[in-house]
Amino acid sequence: MLRKVLIANRGEIAVRIIQACRELGISTVAVHSDADRDCLHVEMAEESVCIGGPYSNASYLNISSVIAAAEITGADAVHPGYGFLAESAHFAEIVRDCGMTFIGPSPEAIRLMGNKSAARAAVSAAGVPVLPGSKEALQSRKEALELAEGIGYPVILKASAGGGGRGMRLAFDERELRGAFDTARNEAEKAFGDPSVYLEKYLERPRHIEFQILADGHGRVIHLGERECSIQRRHQKLLEEAPSAALSPELRAEMGRAAVAAARAARYVSAGTVEFLLGPDGSFHFMEMNTRIQVEHPVTEMVTGVDLVKEQLRIAAGERMSLPPRRAVPINGHAIEFRINAEDPNTFAPSPGLVERLVLPGGPGVRVDTHLYTGYRIPPYYDSLIAKLIVHGADRAEAIARGRRALEMLRVEGIRTSIRLHLRILEDRDFVDGRLDTHFMDRYLQPGGE
Ligand code: ADP
Repeated sequence: MLRKVLIANRGEIAVRIIQACRELGISTVAVHSDADRDCLHVEMAEESVCIGGPYSNASYLNISSVIAAAEITGADAVHPGYGFLAESAHFAEIVRDCGMTFIGPSPEAIRLMGNKSAARAAVSAAGVPVLPGSKEALQSRKEALELAEGIGYPVILKASAGGGGRGMRLAFDERELRGAFDTARNEAEKAFGDPSVYLEKYLERPRHIEFQILADGHGRVIHLGERECSIQRRHQKLLEEAPSAALSPELRAEMGRAAVAAARAARYVSAGTVEFLLGPDGSFHFMEMNTRIQVEHPVTEMVTGVDLVKEQLRIAAGERMSLPPRRAVPINGHAIEFRINAEDPNTFAPSPGLVERLVLPGGPGVRVDTHLYTGYRIPPYYDSLIAKLIVHGADRAEAIARGRRALEMLRVEGIRTSIRLHLRILEDRDFVDGRLDTHFMDRYLQPGGE
């Protein structure tokens, strides 16, 4: 087994990884920026190292500082969490070259799936359905226009190196596509240092359905069911649930097989997620594969009873995954995750500051993953996610009722949060009836509030 893990991350996910390590008897090293001295992950880890200034570029994204911290403390493995360096093939390679274990897939798998147009091509060759679109990155505007003519509008341009909902441009006709081509390339260049874009058919009212994958180094690749992530704003997830109300057992099995085939196409090892768009007619298409643990992994943990982070650690150590061999992982009940962000509920502008009082809900079926405590000052430099409230019930109705009471019992005073927005979603008739698509949140976005 691994002996000492350095966590190259901060906040709730760093705390989550420390919990898993602690249960497996692995010691932990936290890294932190100057602005994060008081962050809970620093207190929870056995050792900690300050790796630089407040801005991520100077600390959490600074590869040499992270590696130096690992070497000084004698860590034998690095867990990247999500965000920051989690999907940097370069970082994974350096960790490996320094003789340490990267807790995640190989640099080759990260590189393949990180290039979205290459990923599309690879999974398509493995028989996984992809949306009609460009085979590779687009060479010219002319090529984009010709392709769009063939597949029909609307189309979406996406950055090959994209992520986090950035670098995407919609076009409903030829005129829009002409303008969007340069804008998308410029945006992609600015955000990712790579201007390549590709094109695919834009679906008007799809659901975002993703499958959790586990793969070990002994050739076993399984899925642990789906997560419904259609509640998004600006292409960012806000609330996730498992299972999806839209999947029959047959469709689940079919999509699960496709997800496993996608992972096998990348010779994937570790935990990962295959994302699909599901149309109202039950047709589904591969969108991308995320090569890391995801923010929303707890909903899968709640309905399967599997600790995904511990499995990642076991797999990274070369062990087999600990799940008993059977045809499908059983799914029990229903789970919902609410992302609690420090932000203005109307404008979504970040709302950092002092947490004057924190009261966490408990009771049956409630889990909170957070780094908050009363008296903690949320720094302005990082993501606005401050807590994840996850509820589990025997069925969807119980999970919704439990979610409502847990959100009502959660008190985060001193800053503005998304708690009330979640309560409004739980009251929405369409939500309660499970009528979801990726445009669900549009009605909650005020004009000019973006
Ligand atoms: P990112 O990696 O930047 O998050 P994704 O490719 O995962 O980008 O897409 C994010 C979201 O954008 C999806 O969940 C979906 O809501 C929307 N989206 C992406 N591609 C399409 C498409 N072809 N048709 C309709 N919606 C799409």
